[in-house]
Amino acid sequence: MMNQPLLHKKDSLTNIESARLSFPALDQSINDHPLVYFDNAATTHKPLSVLKSIDQFYSSYNSNVHRGVHSLSQKATELYEDARKTIQGFINAESTQEIIFVKGTTDAINLIAQTYGRSNIQAGDEILITEMEHHSNIVPWQILAEQNDCKLNIIPFNDNGELILENIDHLLTSKTKLVSIVHASNSLGTINPIETIIRKAHLKGIPVIIDAAQSIQHGKIDVQKLDCDFLAFSGHKIYGPTGIGVLYGKKALLEKMPPYQGGGDMISYVSFEKTTYNELPYKFEAGTPNIAGGIGLGAAIEFFQSYNINNIIAKEQALLKYGQQKLLEVPGLKLIGTAENKTALFSFVLKGIHPHDIGTILNQYGIAVRSGHHCTQPVMTHYKIPATVRASLVFYNTEREIDFLVEKLHAVNEVFK
Ligand code: PMP
Repeated sequence: MMNQPLLHKKDSLTNIESARLSFPALDQSINDHPLVYFDNAATTHKPLSVLKSIDQFYSSYNSNVHRGVHSLSQKATELYEDARKTIQGFINAESTQEIIFVKGTTDAINLIAQTYGRSNIQAGDEILITEMEHHSNIVPWQILAEQNDCKLNIIPFNDNGELILENIDHLLTSKTKLVSIVHASNSLGTINPIETIIRKAHLKGIPVIIDAAQSIQHGKIDVQKLDCDFLAFSGHKIYGPTGIGVLYGKKALLEKMPPYQGGGDMISYVSFEKTTYNELPYKFEAGTPNIAGGIGLGAAIEFFQSYNINNIIAKEQALLKYGQQKLLEVPGLKLIGTAENKTALFSFVLKGIHPHDIGTILNQYGIAVRSGHHCTQPVMTHYKIPATVRASLVFYNTEREIDFLVEKLHAVNEVFK
């Protein structure tokens, strides 16, 4: 997915460079310095088209979806369902019935754990995850393990931050009922060979969930080609609003799963004796949904698709290569996560200086990085460190911003000399 392609004719580099102008929030100063936003793995900024789509919904079409015969409700429904179609096309799902709107990746994984998991995973069964999962792909399974008396197995990674797959056939046991893996790590940047893992799991008839929270915005995902059984991502990490995300699931699996939450919209008929559920995807969408969020996410994906994905990948991979070289010029800096196949994400520590102090000083120069465990405490445990500084870049970032970060890391070293 992340091989460096040649620049495509359809979309010149100039076009990619000017993408930055579409993001109003990038054009501001923090502490008298131009903002350098390197916290994209936490959330990306939103282009004007997304902001406008949300504003237009509330100022012109505000209404509830699915149950109104009046014009505004019909328009709101049309916009919301159009967004679902955009997402279906974007990830190449077979049908819009496979696109469930959720709050985000966390919500999607909890939904699978409490519906598919609760009804299919029994006492003694196993769920296979990796050592580099975000807490949102660990804790829902631990909750399920307590409820159903099942157990978690872990695929380890090496010190470069690459999964060790030699033993995968042994980890996929006759008791393994589900594999749930992160596509791209949010604290190491590693892009995992999910195609291989999916193939191996399927040979044993085991379904696979992909956490695409950190990959959906960096490449092309085709769920049919991947043949994953479920895939989750958050809108706010792909230039869309917060509070909205997507759970993709194969229709045959979703149809067999019990609902997650009960309430309006997810039912077909309710009586005190018996209730029947709505068809997909509404069976999993109880209550008034995040209508503006769904519409905003549709606009975000249209924005993303207006660029040639190969050029986005090329730009981000060039930033990765440049940043990796430049950062190593800083005395005492150690990169955490040096996998061959990575997103443009730099986790690092500086000898003798706490990551929070580094983050605080960088903020004085308008540089936004994140310091902490990044909701991946087992990754920190692996490296025996409490935290890292993380600079996570997307295609609107520049080499000049990396230069400025490197310059100010030298300044951090000076302060603590
Ligand atoms: N998985 C990964 C790899 C992530 O990076 C994140 C967000 N940091 C999540 C899951 C959870 O996403 P959200 O908080 O949007 O639900």
